[in-house]
Amino acid sequence: MKLSELKLHVAEISQKRIVILGGGESGMGAAVLAQQQGFDVFLSDNGKLSDEHLAILRKYNIAYEEGGHTRELILNANEVIKSPGIPDYIPIVEAVRKQKIPIISEIEFAGRYCTAKRICITGSNGKTTTSSLIYFLLKNAGLNVGLAGNIGKSYAYQVATEKFDYYVIELSSFQLDGMTNFKADIAVLLNITPDHLDRYDNQMQNYVNSKFRITQNMRKEDCFIFCSDDEITMRHLKKIVLKTQMLSVSQTQILDQGAYLFDERLVTRYQDSEFEILIKELALGGRHNVYNSMVAAVAGKVLDIRNSVIRESLMGFKGVEHRLEFVSIVNGIKFVNDSKATNVNSAWYALESMADKVVWIVGGTDKGNDYSSLYELVKKKVKAIVCLGLNNKKIIDNFKDFVPTIVETKSAKAAVQKAHELSQPGYTVLLSPACASFDLFHNYEDRGRQFKQAVQALK
Ligand code: ADP
Repeated sequence: MKLSELKLHVAEISQKRIVILGGGESGMGAAVLAQQQGFDVFLSDNGKLSDEHLAILRKYNIAYEEGGHTRELILNANEVIKSPGIPDYIPIVEAVRKQKIPIISEIEFAGRYCTAKRICITGSNGKTTTSSLIYFLLKNAGLNVGLAGNIGKSYAYQVATEKFDYYVIELSSFQLDGMTNFKADIAVLLNITPDHLDRYDNQMQNYVNSKFRITQNMRKEDCFIFCSDDEITMRHLKKIVLKTQMLSVSQTQILDQGAYLFDERLVTRYQDSEFEILIKELALGGRHNVYNSMVAAVAGKVLDIRNSVIRESLMGFKGVEHRLEFVSIVNGIKFVNDSKATNVNSAWYALESMADKVVWIVGGTDKGNDYSSLYELVKKKVKAIVCLGLNNKKIIDNFKDFVPTIVETKSAKAAVQKAHELSQPGYTVLLSPACASFDLFHNYEDRGRQFKQAVQALK
C-alpha cells in the first residue's frame, strides 16, 4: 500500500465509530481490540462495571458510560457490537436496528483481525467440556493455542494481546446470531435440544438455524463435526447443502469416517488412519462425555495429531469444575457436583452415568421443564430426592409416585446435610439441578461452590 493510500485508510478507520453494548468479558475485549485497531470507540453498559473492567477501560483510554444507554452516543455508530447477554428486544437494541446500524457479535468482530486456525464448538450441552478437552489436546500436541468464547478471557481480548496460531472457541447461539462473515476451520455441533427458546420467539427452528450458523462460509477444505445420533441435527441436515467435509460421531452405528463405538472401544477413522481407545480408559465418565471425547478425537485426527497424544489427552483430562465434578467421599458416600446441569437433558446424562444408588439434589428456577424423560432413570437409580429451590411443587408432583423420600431444603448446606443423612455407604449424592440457580444463588458457580464447601464441612 502506498503512503497516501495508507493515510486515507487510517483516516477512514478513525472516522468509523464502534459502539459496544455491554461491558462484560466480551464487551471489554471488543473495546480493547477496537481501540487498538484505531476506531472511535464507545462502550455503554446499563448496569455497573466491575472495578477490574473500569481499570482496563482507563488503561486503554476507552470512552464509556455505565448505568444507562445514552441514545445520542450510540445511534451515531457505524457498527454496534452487542454482548451475547443482551436480548434483541430491549429498546436501545431496537433503536439501533431501526437506524439500520449493523449489529455484530464480539466474535465476528475479532475474527476480522485473526488469521489463526479456528476450532469452534457449539451445541445445547457440552460446549465448555468439549472446548476445554480439545484445548487440552492441542496444548499436549505442542500447538500454540488459545481458548476463547465463553471461557476465560474473551476472543477479542486475546486477538488484541496474544499471538496464537490456533484458537478453540466455545460459541453460544447468541454469539452465533451476531456472526455473518466469520468462518470456522473446524466446526463442531454437539447436539440440539430446546433451550433459551424465549429468545427465539419460542420457535425451535429459529434456535436450530442459529446453531447451524457455525457452518456458515465453510469451504471444502474445512470440516464440520456433528452427532448423527441427534435427531434435530439430522433433520436439519437433510434440508441444507454444506460444501465442507462432514464427519460425524455416533454411539448407535458404525461409521466409515468419524467416530463410533465398537466392542467397548471408541474408534475414530479419518481418511485411512484409525485411532482406538477403550471406553473405560476415558478420563470423563458418562455417555454424554463419550460423545465429547469422540468429537475431540475426530478433531485431533483432522489436525493430524499423533494417536499417542490423543490417547494421553483423553485419558488425562481432569474435567471442568461444576460438570460431573467429583468432590469427595465422606463416610463411604460419594459427592458429585454437576451444578452446571441447568436443564433436563444434562441432568438426564448425569443420572445415566451414575451407578445405582443415588440421592439426587435437584431444583431451582424452572425453565418450563418437562421431567418425563427422567422417569425411567429416576425409578431405577434414585433412592431419595432433596429439593433445593424456592418452589419445588413441580418436582414433587413429578416424582412422588416412585421416589419414597422427597425432602425440601433452601440452602446448599441443608441440602448436603439432608442428602448425607439419607445416604448409606456406597451411595452417590448428585447435585444435578436441571434448573437455573437464580432463586437461591448468584449463579451456577456459586451453587456449585457452596455445595462443595458444605461437603467439606461434613468431614
Ligand atoms: P455447556 O457449555 O454447553 O453448557 P458444559 O460442558 O458446561 O456444557 O456441560 C453442562 C452440562 O451438560 C454438564 O453438567 C453435563 O451434565 C451435560 N453435558 C455435557 N456434555 C454433554 C453432551 N455431549 N450431551 C448432553 N449433555 C452434556
